[in-house]
Amino acid sequence: MLKQQICILGATGSIGVSTLDVIARHPERYQVFALTAHTQIEKLAQQCAAFQPTYAVVATVELAQQLEHSLRQASPKTIVLFGAQALCEVAIATECDVVMAAIVGAAGLPASLAAARAGKRILLANKEALVMSGQLFIDAVRQSGATLLPIDSEHNAIFQCLPNGFQRDLASSGISKIILTASGGPFLNRDVASLHNVTPEQAIAHPNWVMGRKISVDSASMMNKGLEVIEAHWLFGAAPDKIEVLIHPQSLVHSMVSYEDGSLLAQLGNPDMRTPIAYGLAYPERIASGVEALDLSKFLQLNFYQPDLQRFPCLRLAYEALRAGASAPVVLNAVNEVAVDAFLNSALGFMQIETVIAQALEEIPLQGVDTLEAIFEIDSQARRAAHTYISNLRH
Ligand code: NAD
Ligand code: MG
Repeated sequence: MLKQQICILGATGSIGVSTLDVIARHPERYQVFALTAHTQIEKLAQQCAAFQPTYAVVATVELAQQLEHSLRQASPKTIVLFGAQALCEVAIATECDVVMAAIVGAAGLPASLAAARAGKRILLANKEALVMSGQLFIDAVRQSGATLLPIDSEHNAIFQCLPNGFQRDLASSGISKIILTASGGPFLNRDVASLHNVTPEQAIAHPNWVMGRKISVDSASMMNKGLEVIEAHWLFGAAPDKIEVLIHPQSLVHSMVSYEDGSLLAQLGNPDMRTPIAYGLAYPERIASGVEALDLSKFLQLNFYQPDLQRFPCLRLAYEALRAGASAPVVLNAVNEVAVDAFLNSALGFMQIETVIAQALEEIPLQGVDTLEAIFEIDSQARRAAHTYISNLRH
């Protein structure tokens, strides 16, 4: 079998590391073509030593020199590149078959979209890219003939529960709605009044999943689920009122598809991202991921209930942004990134994340999002506004 050449954008992150774990189990199927990292040079150097990629990409020329130095012995054939443009170059290279898009936030959009335009198989973890570019991304996939496979566990679960040949139209497949499950994060049962002074450490202590810091805070605020509602809209062509969110604290049912005939199809498994990653890598085949099968005799508890939008106002804001359309999801995402960063640096309260996003959605006028340039123009505008709102809140 010809080995698949894999590019991992964001190799040093939580998803990147899990992806390499799955790849290492199947050396006869996969070869690492490129690994990218922002600043974690030592970790990237270790990964390069283990997987001997053709390319490695880092943020700056200084970091590239450091990496080159440490790879001289460990992976002498690896070519080290730097900068945002290099992320796009490795993603669209003709030798590359599969792109794991696992950079966090808006920074991942240009290379993810470039991979879509180049007709690659894209394993999409970087949900922010799809939230920001929506129609542009889906159109690029369609025009180039790219294969877009969702890695986010909920969307991967839904993908697994959809009929063969699904064409982004729920009604014609007899689907009444899709149901995204949500763990509820670390603050599910905490007194709402006390949420004002939770610390970054408390917010990133997720009960079921070990993830990067940004998505962990998003899980605590449920903005993560809000972004996932928007992601589901684009992936599956689902109207906002056909996407339901249910809290499921055990994180064993990863999501569900409800059919007109009363059938509810669910995908279950232990909460470990290697399952959706292995699914994306091997699709339509199935390969070992290193994740143990769920032993239902041990996990009898499966609870589900409606989310409380007082406790989780960010989820409500995401639905509002999706319904408003155009630039609203770009603003939602950009301001959330700035606000989460401020919260992680103790410059903003946890419940103020929502305040800042709500203000931005109210004040920044809707604009067109037809090009990548227009999207990043709105993204910058929203980030500037967010910084102003945050500094006003502090005075
Ligand atoms: P992480 O913070 O652990 O890793 C982020 C990666 O992106 C790192 O490799 C980092 O070097 C790279 N990066 C960060 N900023 C960059 C920049 N400006 N330019 C280039 N590279 C940059 O994050 P993660 O938890 O692995 O999440 C990655 C993406 O996958 C996010 O979009 C997240 O929402 C999504 N996701 C993650 C999980 C999970 O379990 N971790 C689950 C579902 C979806
Ligand atoms: Mg998810």
